[in-house]
Amino acid sequence: MVKVDVKYTKLFINNEWVDAVSKKTFPTINPQNETVIVQVAEADKADVDLAVAAAKKAFHRYSEWRTMDASQRGLLMLKLADLMESQARYLAELETLDCGKPVKVAEGEVYFAASVLRYYAGKADKILGNTIPADGEVLSMTLKEPVGVCGQIIPWNYPIPMMLWKISPALAAGCTIVLKPAEQTPLTALAVAALIKEAGFPPGVVNVLPGYGPTAGAAITHHPDVDKVAFTGSTEVGRMIMGAASVANLKRVTLELGGKSPLVVFNDADVEKAAQIAHAAAFENAGQCCCAGTRTYVQAGIYDQFVSKAADIAKQRSVGNPFDDVQQGPQIDKEMYTKVLDYIKAGKESGARCVAGGDRAADVGYYVQPTVFADVQDDMKIAREEIDKEMYTKVLDYIKAGKESGARCVAGGDRAADVGYYVQPTVFADVQDDMKIAREEIFGPVQSIFKFETFDEAVDRANDTNYGLGAGVITNDITTAMAFARHVRAGSVWINIYNHVTSQTPFGGFKDSGMGRELGEEGINNYLEVKTITMSFPKRPL
Ligand code: NAD
Repeated sequence: MVKVDVKYTKLFINNEWVDAVSKKTFPTINPQNETVIVQVAEADKADVDLAVAAAKKAFHRYSEWRTMDASQRGLLMLKLADLMESQARYLAELETLDCGKPVKVAEGEVYFAASVLRYYAGKADKILGNTIPADGEVLSMTLKEPVGVCGQIIPWNYPIPMMLWKISPALAAGCTIVLKPAEQTPLTALAVAALIKEAGFPPGVVNVLPGYGPTAGAAITHHPDVDKVAFTGSTEVGRMIMGAASVANLKRVTLELGGKSPLVVFNDADVEKAAQIAHAAAFENAGQCCCAGTRTYVQAGIYDQFVSKAADIAKQRSVGNPFDDVQQGPQIDKEMYTKVLDYIKAGKESGARCVAGGDRAADVGYYVQPTVFADVQDDMKIAREEIDKEMYTKVLDYIKAGKESGARCVAGGDRAADVGYYVQPTVFADVQDDMKIAREEIFGPVQSIFKFETFDEAVDRANDTNYGLGAGVITNDITTAMAFARHVRAGSVWINIYNHVTSQTPFGGFKDSGMGRELGEEGINNYLEVKTITMSFPKRPL
């Protein structure tokens, strides 16, 4: 286990580190070994009130932030991006500790998050209104103004990118922020908060409050002084947030929710390449990705070949300690881990053919059962030599030697196989559209493969879901690809590639996958109000 120094565990309000008003804390758990990493201050309504008050003050018309040149806002954001990159390895290790994703992946996400900051830093002084030839003896113009105090509630699957997707357009627009990270992953949000202070953002511009959804999260969504709420997470909570946002005032709402995204592979595709793309689409981030391509539709002509390739690739996927060079770490927590295993069970019971995985991944990590030998004799190896407890293989060798030498093993005696939330990369073939695994978001490393015959059938079945976040198509026929892209009901469509998300391209969902778009040109509009100014402008001298 890599030792990572956790420096920040308090609430970040008004550029200060403070305890919760209640003095309560909550544990954040390491998903590799189910131990408590550290206790973190737990925000609730009283803390949200303080943070919103700080954000409101920072948004006052004469505040340092509101009177700052827009270009200067951009410069502060660029500084923050540089600071994040200078600490990329540390932030990645902290993320891996708290969230379980492979450290190399986590490091890449820090750079991606910094790129989002830089994209919006460049926009800060390019937020333009219009001059309008309105009817009458007038001149009209529009100003784009910051929407105000923004509540931002983020999930645990991409903690650093989610934070920067949320705060970057808000900062560029000139808003102030109260952000709540997910209770599973509070640590990197606090580490980034420290960099926000170091970069020189004025107090109150960004406040970070770890805590739970129904308490701290709900206090944000119900607060009358919060002007806008941005949320990423489950569709179920998204619905609650929309309701809450309309009670005390009418908050602007953007939601980025779940998905059950289809990836359609046509007969003319290169099977090897298509299976690789589909694998990455389904298994990225241990399947904990809102736009994961979990429904793989394969045309009949290449179906059998594709299924066997997909199974082979999944079997080769390396699962293990995320600080090692692996493709997949543990699932985020016990709840999600159990949920994923339940879906796998449901898949088997419904008659889908499990061609890879199908269980928890048991041979992961260097864990040994606490072992007790009785009736040990003085001349036995285990009685004489020092057992180096740090060395997993060596310890297991000693345990074997103990057994072989005739000592009576009365407890343990083997590796500990049930530690950590690890799940085997699992592939189901012959999945039918009405099966539970075909309809519900699993959010784990599970790929479902379906067979189809015609183009229209593929489009109809791809669209037969309440979700509409991502979709993909793999074919060498440009007409087929573009026809699919036109007819599929999803916010992002990828052709011969999947899950390619950049700071420049808008991202968000149709239907129950959410509302509004993040990233790109569209992403900043959510943080702006349009003000129309009309003045008398006579056509002739008076
Ligand atoms: P969730 O929606 O419960 O949590 C996401 C965030 O919302 C967290 O910060 C949480 O504290 C907060 N929250 C929860 N209840 C709230 C409330 N009443 N008011 C305000 N904020 C609240 O997600 P989860 O429980 O972590 O995961 C459950 C499912 O959500 C997953 O199985 C997956 O389907 C989906 N999910 C989607 C995404 C995504 O990127 N779209 C991310 C994580 C989870």
